[in-house]
Amino acid sequence: MKKLNDIHAEASKYFVAGASAGQRYNAPLGQPLYISRANGSRFWDAEGNEFIDFHTGAGAALFGHNNPRIREAINQALELGFFMNFDTEHHTQLAKLLQHFFPSCERMRLLNTGSEATQAAIRLARTYSGRDKVLRFEGHFHGMHESIWFNHNMISNVDAYGEVETHPDSVGFPINAKDGVVNVIFNNVDAFEHALKKYKDKIACVILEPISYNCGCLEARGEYLRAVREICTRENTVLIFDEVVTGLRMRPGSAQKYYGVLPDVTVMAKAIGGGMSIAAFGGKKEIMEHLNPIGKTAVSGTYSGALMPVLASVACLTMASEQGFYDRLEDTGNKLYAGIDDLLAKHKIAAHVRGLGARFGIYFGVENPEDDFDFRKVAVAEDKGTYKKFVTECVKNGLWFHDTAGPVSPAHYGFTVAHTSHDIDDALGRLDSIFAK
Ligand code: PMP
Repeated sequence: MKKLNDIHAEASKYFVAGASAGQRYNAPLGQPLYISRANGSRFWDAEGNEFIDFHTGAGAALFGHNNPRIREAINQALELGFFMNFDTEHHTQLAKLLQHFFPSCERMRLLNTGSEATQAAIRLARTYSGRDKVLRFEGHFHGMHESIWFNHNMISNVDAYGEVETHPDSVGFPINAKDGVVNVIFNNVDAFEHALKKYKDKIACVILEPISYNCGCLEARGEYLRAVREICTRENTVLIFDEVVTGLRMRPGSAQKYYGVLPDVTVMAKAIGGGMSIAAFGGKKEIMEHLNPIGKTAVSGTYSGALMPVLASVACLTMASEQGFYDRLEDTGNKLYAGIDDLLAKHKIAAHVRGLGARFGIYFGVENPEDDFDFRKVAVAEDKGTYKKFVTECVKNGLWFHDTAGPVSPAHYGFTVAHTSHDIDDALGRLDSIFAK
């Protein structure tokens, strides 16, 4: 059996830092983790060490790794001719299922990744509104592209009205890219209203994560989201919900149902494919028909709506529609979140869990749970030292809490429907000794 360090040395001859994608690099290990296989709630690294997985394919593997029904769907695609670049009746079956989980989607289009889908949704909103700027919220993440990747993992200057100075999250953006974006603090109606007045008739769309798991678990307050909806309608601004992570995650399916607030356009990815690369965006017919060939907004791609992920997605959405699916996720979440909170209290660690549906953040150093609703308060309070010790000890103890925390926001984790009560007991037992340390 090869050693992880040797695999890293070899990989580094071809991949930058030995990682095929930036986020595979893991700071506690000082290199990526190279794994051999994954099944259900667990995976095994290349040296044979077993991990209980709380990263869950960056949130895509909601149905568990190597899920037999997704495998069956993949096999069906293999039988049919797995890539055709044509639509089939299965595509329509998928759209019907998606509409069940994302009720505001009267018309849809398929793509491959969440980033592609947010980019297309923004392009569509620009055409529909005839306006240019995108209003986004500090801390929220919508993919790594030049029209939206700003102010995700940083705190920058804020003015007296709650507008935040815009900064890109990477270098290499065109110099004027930031002019396309207005950044505002979240969960503050006055700040939002003020920005829409200041940029009157300039805001093409407002994009948000209804629950920003990318900020740990930053929930929108219900009344806030309702106000945002009303103001967008009044100002003729397209409201986009990025449901890439919230989608399918919570009872009874996604955030727009949970809050009872319908966006104009929804972006979907990750869990809808259960690990196969598929994304979608959809919305009101009137808006969506600005897409080609009816309208003039071009959105397409060689692999858009490829058969294999389409069939996999049908299998995922069918499983999520079955009775007991959300009861099971909810039971697992309740047990895990209460269990971690109890252990934190037992070991007198100033931290708490905030979880909603099958995704959660652990807030180290944040004493007042009310602060979770405020990105800035969490950023200031977060105890990164304890967080780092936590992820490092977890790796040594067979728990995979991926190092997803950014410079300011807490890390976010998840579990799958394959995580059993035994898995949670097992994980809590290990966390007991980790927290004791
Ligand atoms: N939106 C949100 C809310 C996300 O969390 C992510 C990915 N973490 C994306 C968009 C981008 O999705 P992808 O990685 O599939 O491009």
